[in-house]
Amino acid sequence: MNILYVEDEKHLALSVAQVLEKNNYNVELAYDGEQGLDYSLSGQYDIIILDLMLPKMDGINVLQEIRRAKIETPVILLTAKGETKDKVNGLDGGADDYLAKPFQMEELLARLRALGRRKGQLAADNMLSCGDIELNYNTLKLYGNVETFQLTLKESQILELLILNKGQAISTASIIEKVWGWDTDTEDSHVHVQIAFLRKKLALLSTSVIIKTIYGVGYMLTLSEETVDCV
Ligand code: CA
Repeated sequence: MNILYVEDEKHLALSVAQVLEKNNYNVELAYDGEQGLDYSLSGQYDIIILDLMLPKMDGINVLQEIRRAKIETPVILLTAKGETKDKVNGLDGGADDYLAKPFQMEELLARLRALGRRKGQLAADNMLSCGDIELNYNTLKLYGNVETFQLTLKESQILELLILNKGQAISTASIIEKVWGWDTDTEDSHVHVQIAFLRKKLALLSTSVIIKTIYGVGYMLTLSEETVDCV
């Protein structure tokens, strides 16, 4: 699990990161709000731990910008003494959890496990999402801002694969192998046709999610403004 920890107190940041790494989390650190926002917008984290008081941009603003960019990564907000939970609640509803400083590592680890479980429960709804689209891979329904489409099984399977590998190029051969199976005479052109159908539906949903062609490789699901912030 990839964690971004935005914290300007470097000693604290480093010691927390050390414990998290020992607990098998991958941790990246950002030391001010702007850097934290930059990193967050990459969309590559499973959980963001965000200090409230930060240089350059405070945690609340960072959180608002993250949510404005439609990045749904769970955020644990760290509040210092005197910043009550109510006060923070009043400021913004975009955080998933709060933790008061100073905190015990056990407490932070428990919150991380809880958020990880919640993520697992979302997955159990058979829903996958990227940007502003959602796919129910059981009913094969694709939900967007303006409309819902019933996908074919192949379209749904390809989109599922793209969402699970969002931000990464996936080869046409690998799509064939995973969707049609090993023992198949499916050609690249079959994949291209399915991708064309999916692109048409995405375009009709007015979403910023696009399927990019990566020449010489295959395809990649991303947002039109180049960020890869699927969650
Ligand atoms: Ca701080």
